[in-house]
Amino acid sequence: MILAANPGNEQRDTGNVTAVPEQTFPVSRVSTTESPARPDLPSAGVSFDPPSTDLFSTDPIQRASSLTDVAQLIAACEKCGLCSGRTKTVPGEGLATARLVVVGEGPGKTEDETGRPFVGRAGELLTKILAAIELPREQVFICNIVKCRPPENRQPQFDEIAACMPFLYRQIELVNPKVILAMGSTAAQSLLNTRQSLGSLRDHIHRFRGIPLVVTYHPAALLRNPNWKRPTWDDVRIAARLLEA
Ligand code: URA
Repeated sequence: MILAANPGNEQRDTGNVTAVPEQTFPVSRVSTTESPARPDLPSAGVSFDPPSTDLFSTDPIQRASSLTDVAQLIAACEKCGLCSGRTKTVPGEGLATARLVVVGEGPGKTEDETGRPFVGRAGELLTKILAAIELPREQVFICNIVKCRPPENRQPQFDEIAACMPFLYRQIELVNPKVILAMGSTAAQSLLNTRQSLGSLRDHIHRFRGIPLVVTYHPAALLRNPNWKRPTWDDVRIAARLLEA
Protein backbone atom coordinates (compact mmCIF):
# COMPACT_ATOMS: atom_id res chain seq x y z
CA MET A 1 0.00 0.00 0.00
CA ILE A 2 1.21 3.49 -0.82
CA LEU A 3 0.57 5.46 2.34
CA ALA A 4 -0.82 8.95 1.83
CA ALA A 5 1.74 10.56 4.07
CA ASN A 6 4.50 8.32 2.92
CA PRO A 7 4.41 7.69 -0.83
CA GLY A 8 7.03 5.24 -2.00
CA ASN A 9 6.58 3.11 1.09
CA GLU A 10 6.82 -0.43 -0.21
CA GLN A 11 5.75 -2.23 2.94
CA ARG A 12 2.47 -4.06 2.39
CA ASP A 13 -0.32 -3.76 4.91
CA THR A 14 -0.93 -6.96 6.76
CA GLY A 15 -1.87 -7.81 10.27
CA ASN A 16 1.82 -8.03 11.19
CA VAL A 17 2.50 -4.52 12.31
CA THR A 18 4.43 -2.77 14.99
CA ALA A 19 2.28 -2.32 18.06
CA VAL A 20 1.10 1.19 18.84
CA PRO A 21 -0.94 2.23 21.87
CA GLU A 22 -4.48 0.88 21.60
CA GLN A 23 -7.20 3.40 20.76
CA THR A 24 -10.87 2.74 20.60
CA PHE A 25 -12.79 3.04 17.37
CA PRO A 26 -14.71 5.18 16.55
CA VAL A 27 -12.73 8.16 17.72
CA SER A 28 -15.97 9.86 18.64
CA ARG A 29 -19.59 9.60 17.67
CA VAL A 30 -20.23 13.10 18.91
CA SER A 31 -20.87 15.73 16.30
CA THR A 32 -18.17 18.39 16.04
CA THR A 33 -17.74 21.23 13.57
CA GLU A 34 -14.89 19.32 11.93
CA SER A 35 -16.73 16.04 11.72
CA PRO A 36 -20.52 16.32 11.73
CA ALA A 37 -22.63 13.32 12.69
CA ARG A 38 -24.08 13.14 9.17
CA PRO A 39 -21.37 14.46 6.88
CA ASP A 40 -22.39 15.84 3.51
CA LEU A 41 -21.82 13.28 0.82
CA PRO A 42 -18.63 14.01 -1.13
CA SER A 43 -18.52 14.68 -4.84
CA ALA A 44 -18.40 12.02 -7.53
CA GLY A 45 -15.00 10.52 -8.36
CA VAL A 46 -13.72 7.82 -10.68
CA SER A 47 -16.15 5.50 -12.42
CA PHE A 48 -14.78 2.15 -13.61
CA ASP A 49 -16.96 -0.22 -15.53
CA PRO A 50 -15.14 -3.40 -16.56
CA PRO A 51 -17.18 -5.69 -18.79
CA SER A 52 -19.48 -7.96 -16.83
CA THR A 53 -20.33 -11.59 -17.44
CA ASP A 54 -20.90 -12.62 -21.01
CA LEU A 55 -23.80 -15.07 -21.04
CA PHE A 56 -22.06 -17.23 -23.61
CA SER A 57 -18.66 -17.19 -22.00
CA THR A 58 -16.87 -20.46 -21.44
CA ASP A 59 -14.59 -18.93 -18.79
CA PRO A 60 -15.16 -20.97 -15.61
CA ILE A 61 -14.86 -17.86 -13.43
CA GLN A 62 -17.60 -16.12 -15.34
CA ARG A 63 -19.70 -19.27 -15.26
CA ALA A 64 -19.31 -19.74 -11.48
CA SER A 65 -22.82 -19.43 -10.11
CA SER A 66 -22.06 -19.06 -6.39
CA LEU A 67 -19.37 -17.74 -4.07
CA THR A 68 -18.59 -21.35 -3.20
CA ASP A 69 -17.94 -22.10 -6.87
CA VAL A 70 -15.62 -19.08 -7.07
CA ALA A 71 -13.80 -20.23 -3.91
CA GLN A 72 -13.26 -23.68 -5.47
CA LEU A 73 -11.75 -22.11 -8.57
CA ILE A 74 -9.49 -19.96 -6.39
CA ALA A 75 -8.37 -23.05 -4.45
CA ALA A 76 -7.22 -24.66 -7.70
CA CYS A 77 -5.73 -21.50 -9.22
CA GLU A 78 -2.15 -21.49 -10.50
CA LYS A 79 -2.38 -18.38 -12.65
CA CYS A 80 0.48 -16.57 -10.94
CA GLY A 81 3.55 -17.30 -8.86
CA LEU A 82 1.83 -16.67 -5.54
CA CYS A 83 0.30 -20.17 -5.65
CA SER A 84 3.67 -21.77 -4.96
CA GLY A 85 4.09 -20.08 -1.57
CA ARG A 86 0.59 -20.36 -0.20
CA THR A 87 -0.58 -22.54 2.63
CA LYS A 88 -4.26 -21.84 1.97
CA THR A 89 -6.07 -19.65 -0.50
CA VAL A 90 -8.12 -16.87 1.11
CA PRO A 91 -11.13 -16.37 -1.12
CA GLY A 92 -13.12 -14.15 1.25
CA GLU A 93 -16.01 -14.75 3.57
CA GLY A 94 -19.33 -13.37 4.66
CA LEU A 95 -22.89 -13.01 3.58
CA ALA A 96 -23.59 -13.94 -0.04
CA THR A 97 -26.23 -11.20 -0.17
CA ALA A 98 -24.24 -8.61 1.80
CA ARG A 99 -25.09 -4.93 1.29
CA LEU A 100 -21.45 -4.03 1.89
CA VAL A 101 -18.38 -5.62 0.31
CA VAL A 102 -15.09 -4.74 2.03
CA VAL A 103 -11.93 -5.21 -0.04
CA GLY A 104 -8.40 -5.29 1.39
CA GLU A 105 -5.06 -5.98 -0.24
CA GLY A 106 -4.05 -9.59 0.29
CA PRO A 107 -3.68 -12.28 2.94
CA GLY A 108 -1.04 -11.98 5.65
CA LYS A 109 0.47 -14.82 7.68
CA THR A 110 -2.57 -15.61 9.83
CA GLU A 111 -4.89 -15.40 6.85
CA ASP A 112 -2.63 -17.74 4.86
CA GLU A 113 -2.65 -20.23 7.74
CA THR A 114 -6.40 -20.10 8.32
CA GLY A 115 -7.78 -19.44 4.84
CA ARG A 116 -9.85 -16.57 6.30
CA PRO A 117 -9.54 -12.85 5.48
CA PHE A 118 -8.72 -10.21 8.06
CA VAL A 119 -8.23 -12.42 11.10
CA GLY A 120 -5.03 -10.82 12.48
CA ARG A 121 -4.79 -7.53 14.39
CA ALA A 122 -5.89 -5.55 11.35
CA GLY A 123 -8.88 -7.86 11.15
CA GLU A 124 -9.81 -7.20 14.76
CA LEU A 125 -9.77 -3.49 14.02
CA LEU A 126 -11.87 -4.02 10.91
CA THR A 127 -14.44 -5.88 13.01
CA LYS A 128 -14.55 -2.88 15.40
CA ILE A 129 -14.90 -0.44 12.51
CA LEU A 130 -17.85 -2.41 11.16
CA ALA A 131 -19.42 -2.64 14.62
CA ALA A 132 -19.19 1.15 14.87
CA ILE A 133 -21.63 1.43 11.96
CA GLU A 134 -23.71 -1.37 13.46
CA LEU A 135 -22.73 -3.92 10.88
CA PRO A 136 -21.72 -7.25 12.38
CA ARG A 137 -18.85 -8.77 10.45
CA GLU A 138 -21.04 -11.73 9.45
CA GLN A 139 -23.38 -9.41 7.55
CA VAL A 140 -20.64 -8.12 5.28
CA PHE A 141 -18.62 -9.84 2.55
CA ILE A 142 -14.91 -9.38 3.26
CA CYS A 143 -12.24 -10.22 0.71
CA ASN A 144 -8.97 -9.09 -0.84
CA ILE A 145 -7.53 -8.08 -4.18
CA VAL A 146 -5.21 -11.12 -4.24
CA LYS A 147 -6.29 -14.41 -2.74
CA CYS A 148 -2.85 -15.84 -1.93
CA ARG A 149 -0.25 -14.39 0.43
CA PRO A 150 2.62 -12.56 -1.28
CA PRO A 151 6.02 -13.65 0.09
CA GLU A 152 7.10 -11.74 3.18
CA ASN A 153 3.94 -9.66 2.94
CA ARG A 154 5.25 -7.62 0.04
CA GLN A 155 2.79 -5.66 -2.07
CA PRO A 156 1.14 -7.76 -4.77
CA GLN A 157 2.64 -7.12 -8.19
CA PHE A 158 0.67 -5.99 -11.22
CA ASP A 159 0.70 -9.41 -12.90
CA GLU A 160 -0.53 -11.04 -9.68
CA ILE A 161 -3.30 -8.48 -9.32
CA ALA A 162 -4.26 -8.86 -12.97
CA ALA A 163 -4.43 -12.65 -12.63
CA CYS A 164 -6.62 -12.43 -9.53
CA MET A 165 -9.03 -9.60 -10.41
CA PRO A 166 -11.48 -11.79 -12.38
CA PHE A 167 -12.27 -13.65 -9.15
CA LEU A 168 -13.08 -10.40 -7.37
CA TYR A 169 -15.13 -9.13 -10.30
CA ARG A 170 -17.23 -12.29 -10.18
CA GLN A 171 -17.55 -12.15 -6.38
CA ILE A 172 -18.83 -8.57 -6.54
CA GLU A 173 -21.17 -9.50 -9.37
CA LEU A 174 -22.62 -12.40 -7.35
CA VAL A 175 -22.97 -10.46 -4.09
CA ASN A 176 -24.25 -7.36 -5.90
CA PRO A 177 -23.72 -5.09 -2.89
CA LYS A 178 -25.14 -1.63 -2.38
CA VAL A 179 -21.73 -0.20 -1.44
CA ILE A 180 -18.07 -1.23 -1.76
CA LEU A 181 -15.48 -0.13 0.81
CA ALA A 182 -11.94 -0.25 -0.58
CA MET A 183 -9.39 -0.31 2.24
CA GLY A 184 -5.93 0.90 1.29
CA SER A 185 -4.46 2.07 -1.97
CA THR A 186 -3.96 -1.38 -3.52
CA ALA A 187 -7.68 -2.12 -3.18
CA ALA A 188 -8.73 1.35 -4.31
CA GLN A 189 -6.36 1.58 -7.26
CA SER A 190 -7.06 -1.96 -8.47
CA LEU A 191 -10.84 -1.61 -8.25
CA LEU A 192 -10.89 1.81 -9.90
CA ASN A 193 -8.12 1.04 -12.42
CA THR A 194 -6.20 4.16 -11.48
CA ARG A 195 -2.82 5.15 -10.07
CA GLN A 196 -4.21 8.09 -8.10
CA SER A 197 -3.02 8.23 -4.51
CA LEU A 198 -5.14 7.15 -1.57
CA GLY A 199 -5.17 10.77 -0.41
CA SER A 200 -6.71 11.99 -3.65
CA LEU A 201 -9.15 9.07 -3.87
CA ARG A 202 -10.58 9.66 -0.40
CA ASP A 203 -13.41 12.15 -0.08
CA HIS A 204 -15.13 11.17 -3.31
CA ILE A 205 -17.81 8.67 -4.07
CA HIS A 206 -16.49 6.53 -6.89
CA ARG A 207 -18.34 3.90 -8.86
CA PHE A 208 -17.43 0.34 -9.73
CA ARG A 209 -19.87 -0.95 -12.34
CA GLY A 210 -22.28 1.67 -11.04
CA ILE A 211 -21.92 0.55 -7.39
CA PRO A 212 -20.87 3.40 -5.07
CA LEU A 213 -17.31 2.80 -3.84
CA VAL A 214 -15.77 4.56 -0.83
CA VAL A 215 -12.01 4.60 -0.29
CA THR A 216 -10.40 4.63 3.13
CA TYR A 217 -7.22 3.70 4.97
CA HIS A 218 -6.30 0.08 5.47
CA PRO A 219 -6.81 -1.10 9.07
CA ALA A 220 -3.14 -2.08 9.31
CA ALA A 221 -2.20 1.51 8.44
CA LEU A 222 -4.44 2.66 11.30
CA LEU A 223 -2.54 0.41 13.68
CA ARG A 224 0.65 2.16 12.64
CA ASN A 225 -0.82 5.64 12.59
CA PRO A 226 -3.79 6.16 14.93
CA ASN A 227 -4.17 9.73 13.58
CA TRP A 228 -5.84 8.17 10.55
CA LYS A 229 -8.65 6.76 12.68
CA ARG A 230 -10.60 10.01 12.57
CA PRO A 231 -10.59 10.31 8.76
CA THR A 232 -11.36 6.60 8.51
CA TRP A 233 -14.36 7.09 10.75
CA ASP A 234 -15.51 9.90 8.44
CA ASP A 235 -15.17 7.63 5.40
CA VAL A 236 -16.94 4.74 7.05
CA ARG A 237 -19.86 6.97 8.03
CA ILE A 238 -20.16 8.01 4.40
CA ALA A 239 -20.36 4.33 3.46
CA ALA A 240 -23.01 3.87 6.18
CA ARG A 241 -25.03 6.77 4.79
CA LEU A 242 -24.91 5.29 1.32
CA LEU A 243 -26.12 2.00 2.75
CA GLU A 244 -29.10 3.82 4.30
CA ALA A 245 -29.94 5.74 1.13
N1 URA B 1 -4.49 -7.33 5.16
C1 URA B 1 -5.30 -7.47 4.10
O1 URA B 1 -5.30 -6.64 3.19
N2 URA B 1 -6.10 -8.51 4.05
C2 URA B 1 -6.17 -9.42 5.02
O2 URA B 1 -6.94 -10.35 4.90
C3 URA B 1 -5.33 -9.23 6.14
C4 URA B 1 -4.50 -8.18 6.20
